[in-house]
Amino acid sequence: MRFSGCFIPTSKETPAEAQIVSHRLMLRAGMITQTASGIYSWLPLGVRALGKVADIVRQEQNEIGANEVLMSIVQPSELWKESGREQSYGEELLRFKDRRQRTLLYSPTNEEQITDIFRKYIRSYRDLPKNFYQIQWKFRDEIRPRFGVMRGREFLMKDGYSFDLNVEQAKKTYKNIFTAYLKTFKRMGLTPIPVQADSGSIGGDMSHEFHILASTGESLLYYDKKISEFDFSSPDVFKKFSKVYAASEDKHDPDNCPVHKSDLEQSRGIEVGHIFYFGTKYTKSMNATVSDANGNQIYPEMGSYGIGVSRLLGAIIEANHDDKGIIWPKEITPYQIGLINLSVDNEVCTALSDNVYQGLVKQNIEVLYDDRNERAGEKMADMDLIGVPYQIIIGQNSIANKTIEIKNRRTGEVSKVEQHDIINVDFGKINEAELYKK
Ligand code: ATP
Ligand code: MG
Repeated sequence: MRFSGCFIPTSKETPAEAQIVSHRLMLRAGMITQTASGIYSWLPLGVRALGKVADIVRQEQNEIGANEVLMSIVQPSELWKESGREQSYGEELLRFKDRRQRTLLYSPTNEEQITDIFRKYIRSYRDLPKNFYQIQWKFRDEIRPRFGVMRGREFLMKDGYSFDLNVEQAKKTYKNIFTAYLKTFKRMGLTPIPVQADSGSIGGDMSHEFHILASTGESLLYYDKKISEFDFSSPDVFKKFSKVYAASEDKHDPDNCPVHKSDLEQSRGIEVGHIFYFGTKYTKSMNATVSDANGNQIYPEMGSYGIGVSRLLGAIIEANHDDKGIIWPKEITPYQIGLINLSVDNEVCTALSDNVYQGLVKQNIEVLYDDRNERAGEKMADMDLIGVPYQIIIGQNSIANKTIEIKNRRTGEVSKVEQHDIINVDFGKINEAELYKK
């Protein structure tokens, strides 16, 4: 993409309303713009990064055999009357009336709706287990929306729902999803801490939250300090991890904590995922049954599983930035390479830059080409703010020395590549090790 044709409204000003760094940087890099309290519109750069997060989430859900659906955002309130949550969910539930005076609601979560779909089609134990998910906008009328996309009223969530024949199978599903979540967050360059959690308004008896440690996190976590040595990529991770103490504030009971005080750590975290096993709460209340092998009608066991897709961008930026701006992990960056032409007026510089750009595009590398007629300092500052992991910088020096500079945004290190080589470099395969062994 040529920057001159892009809509990336960057800004040098620090927005007064933003209290945390990720919110400030998302506004300054032109990723999002506020529509109303807790409600944002996503601008092109934000859309690209959000898409990267969603892609990873989707791949890992497909990998465990979950079926992607896309449920309507608007639901009839009757479904929520059946489950009893029409009353119990409270003020976070946004209700409104259509022209026939029927009460509708904007989905804050979709247990009722998926159970309704399930009961329409699935009748036999032979069809179980089934696992569904969607990546869809939610609305919760949060009492205190804040920190930008971290606690919005409208936000993008991956919500998943499982149906199993019995408790044993449901627990197996839960463990698979627990493991898939760890993998999902790892792929985003994050180190999540799973903690035992309260199941809140969803109900049920087994629940974990996944947190990214950050001083700006809204949650307080308590955990055994040996968690820092835990190998989250070990195969039987759920079984091993269940022996390590880690709990959210709601769940932590100081009087009955199995960990000695001197071994107990306390940190703030950003909740990026939450999983629940709640058994037959919805299948019973909504009368969703299947026949078992003996022809008896039974209520399937359910769980539900959320990932805060839009919140994750905030969490990723909290974990990856410096005073110049965002530093995207390779997996999430909206562009792989930033190409800066420092001297647009110079014909040779522009020809060389155009050439490099075409070469990268041909290799299907997502490149943001700053071809704007702006001051060099401004262009470098914008590219640092936007946070693309590698920058190719072309200016008068490149021509004089027959070299092109490649800057690593994270380390600031600059390596030089011979001019005639650059188009043949496979940037898709570039990693720090390969780049710097030259
Ligand atoms: P919280 O305690 O932060 O309100 P929750 O327990 O209400 O979260 P869930 O209902 O489990 O959240 O939703 C699943 C995931 O969706 C959460 O783990 C979080 O990452 C994300 N999420 C929840 N509420 C919001 C919000 N208001 N803004 C952005 N993301 C949210
Ligand atoms: Mg909540």
